Amino acid sequence: MSAPQLHRILTIDDNAAIHEDFRKLFADENKPSEAFENLESSIFGGTVKTSLAQTFELESALQGQDGLEKVRAAFAAGRPFTLAFVDVRMPPGWDGVETIERLWKVDPELQVVICTAYSDHSWEDIRRRLGNSDSLLVLKKPFDTVEVLQIAHALTRKWELAREARTAMEYLDRKVADRTKALQQEMAERIRVENNLRQAQKVEAVGLLAAGIAHDFNNILTVIQGHAGILQSTPGCSPEMMESISQIADAADRAASLTRQLLVFSRKDVVCYKPLDLNAVLANATAFLGRVLGAPIQLAVQPTPGPLCLTADECNLEQIIMNLALNARDAMPDGGVLTLRTSIEVISEEDSRRHPQARPGAFACLTVADTGCGMDAVTLTRIFEPFFTTKDPGKGTGLGLATVDGIVQRHKGWIEISSELNRGTTFKVFLPHSGELAPIVAKTNAPFMLPPQGREPLTILVVEDDEAVRNFAKTVLIANKYRVVEAVDGVEALEVLARQTSKVDMLFTDIVMPRGISGRALAEKAREERPALNVIYSSGYSAEAIGATWLHGPGVAFLPKPYTPGELLRAVAASNVS
Ligand code: ADP
Ligand code: MG
Repeated sequence: MSAPQLHRILTIDDNAAIHEDFRKLFADENKPSEAFENLESSIFGGTVKTSLAQTFELESALQGQDGLEKVRAAFAAGRPFTLAFVDVRMPPGWDGVETIERLWKVDPELQVVICTAYSDHSWEDIRRRLGNSDSLLVLKKPFDTVEVLQIAHALTRKWELAREARTAMEYLDRKVADRTKALQQEMAERIRVENNLRQAQKVEAVGLLAAGIAHDFNNILTVIQGHAGILQSTPGCSPEMMESISQIADAADRAASLTRQLLVFSRKDVVCYKPLDLNAVLANATAFLGRVLGAPIQLAVQPTPGPLCLTADECNLEQIIMNLALNARDAMPDGGVLTLRTSIEVISEEDSRRHPQARPGAFACLTVADTGCGMDAVTLTRIFEPFFTTKDPGKGTGLGLATVDGIVQRHKGWIEISSELNRGTTFKVFLPHSGELAPIVAKTNAPFMLPPQGREPLTILVVEDDEAVRNFAKTVLIANKYRVVEAVDGVEALEVLARQTSKVDMLFTDIVMPRGISGRALAEKAREERPALNVIYSSGYSAEAIGATWLHGPGVAFLPKPYTPGELLRAVAASNVS
């Protein structure tokens, strides 16, 4: 244990003899006598033995100015005086009251005993000048030894307690401040989360609406695309008619890609992975981009030579390009250069360490670089958060990069970003390179598959609540030598199956249907009687959205809407082979 701190006492008196008296008095005190011990315990109670070890360190000053300097130096050194005995009359300098006023300015905690032989100042006068301080005692000369010691001990103890109390208060104040700050942060975080939730609920509601519209729209498009397809493969049409029909088919195609965008947004999209050339997708997207970018932005498209193959969803890829390009546009309000580049990147073991999702191998890389405002480090850490935007309300939704990130992850890729304030930003999207390019099949003009020759025609039960879609499917199938029986929903289909005891080879059914029996329930019931029955499901929702696992398996296939005659016939033919 370290030696106990000495309490410093200062006597300020112009009479040197007084200092001598104090010295003797406190010197005795430092060698405590039995009498003192008794005094001590009579003041502080019997158990307070520790204060006997306490000793005082005495200093003296002959004038107020001198005393003030000592107090100031002690305070600055971090070892302040506990107590000062101050004489009232100290010519030629300040009197005691003035001295005390100044001492307290330097050290407000200093305990003071004002020593007076005459009533130079009335008590009222002292009170008026020094205030009603509890750090001040008046001691009348001549002193009584015990009285002085008692005062010294009592005021010292009071000074200590005041200090402890202040330390405790400071600690509590700090605690309160810390907790208040933490609460404020929690509140802010809560408000942020609530805002996000509200926003998410809004988006969810819009998404549901969009998905519903897109679903119904896909039925309509199936009919339009389908009949255009039937006409296209009908012999004897004039070239003018063929041209009109192909215009209709193209428009329906565009509408179909629009509904797919709606479904992507609502996350009920039909994700259709197929072999693609990234360069071809980029060329398509840039044709459209030119119009939305605006004049001050210079567009530089640099595709790698030759096709760049990957297995991906075309709509999803277009969406990546659009979202990144639109962000680049927003980052360059005064113009600049937007570069869209494709390349093959071979990632080594060492390269793969720069990103958690990166791994060795060949990757198709899409680079979107701008010369815009760039981002600071804090923004960079947050850009993929849904609803994080630095744009004005109404300008940004904060969903662009969240969607891009979702798509890239879904395609087992990753994104690398470099950005510098006022220098621009570069996004590099890495997607698995698939090596060879399977031929891209034109959608609407696919040739019809001929049904198997020379056999009894297959009988297909078509179950679809949308009459126009059902009629279209029926028309295509009958035109291609299939036999068709039809039903408007699951209930009717079960009745048909019960009647058609002999001959139903295949079930082609919509999934979401009225009257309580879904396509899946229908198929399961039907297969109890006919285990060999082939099933093709169809829906305007994606396999993912429906919960895909049971959509694949032996004798089961899925045909997303809208479908063309060729796609329907291929699905039927493939299913019949399996
Ligand atoms: P939004 O565009 O609606 O704000 P995004 O998710 O697309 O939402 O982007 C989130 C944020 O990321 C933007 O608000 C912007 O601060 C930052 N950001 C994205 N792309 C760029 C870019 N090319 N240059 C500078 N900042 C960008
Ligand atoms: Mg955006």
